[in-house]
Order: sequence, then structure tokens, then C-alpha cells
Amino acid sequence: MEDCLFCKIIKGEIPSTKVFENENVFAFKDINPLAKGHILFIHKKHSHDVVEMTQKEPADVAEVFRAISEFALDQKIKEDGFRVVTNIGKHGGQTVYHTHFHVLFGEQLKGFGA
Ligand code: 5GP
Ligand code: ZN
Repeated sequence: MEDCLFCKIIKGEIPSTKVFENENVFAFKDINPLAKGHILFIHKKHSHDVVEMTQKEPADVAEVFRAISEFALDQKIKEDGFRVVTNIGKHGGQTVYHTHFHVLFGEQLKGFGA
């Protein structure tokens, strides 16, 4: 999508620190990290949010989670644990409307009962 920030990051038109890429999925460091490790995972196919993504092509959600799992095993963050968050719409706090999954790790995370 032409005017989408994350589509531009995928194309390299806006610089980012890439940490993972395969045919369908791209991952890069969040510019404003909320934990010691904070990576954003996105599908290369543009969608507005995870609800739209699921309605259009549910397999795309699985592709992103497969990439997250590969990354977690590769980087050995599964043992200590990590968190995956996707914000949807205004009340969810979504600010970029290209579906993305925050992967937070590297320290004890607070909130959500922790
Ligand atoms: P949201 O609030 O939509 O769930 O998450 C958007 C995330 O994108 C935020 O955590 C924000 O820090 C990150 N972000 C916004 N603009 C950029 C950018 O230009 N580069 C990178 N790497 N992250 C960005
Ligand atoms: Zn996009």
C-alpha cells in the first residue's frame, strides 16, 4: 500500500533494523522499545489489522506466528519467555494501520497479571 509506513519499511524506502525476513514475513526493531527486546513482526501483504488479516487470509496469521516461533527458538528467548501483542483500533492503541505483532522479551514484563 502506497502511503503505509510499514509497507515502505518492507521496501526499504524507510530504514529499519531488520532482524528476520523470509518470503512472506519481515521483522525489525521497534523505534521506541518498551522492553529490552522489542521487535515488530509484519506480513509483507498489507492488511489494516489482525481481524482484517484473518478475514482475508487466515494462513497469513499462521505465517507470522511461524516466523515468531523460528525467531524465538533461534534467539533462545523461549526458555525465559516473551510476549506477543497486537493492538487493534483506537481503544487497542493501534497507531500504525499495517497489521503488526509486538514481540517483547529480555526482561520480566509487567501487566497482564505478571
Ligand atoms: P501500535 O501502537 O500501532 O501497536 O505500534 C506501532 C509501533 O510502531 C510503535 O511501537 C512504534 O514505536 C513503532 N514505530 C512507529 N514508527 C516507526 C518507525 O518509523 N520505525 C520503527 N522501527 N518503528 C516504528
Ligand atoms: Zn502496509
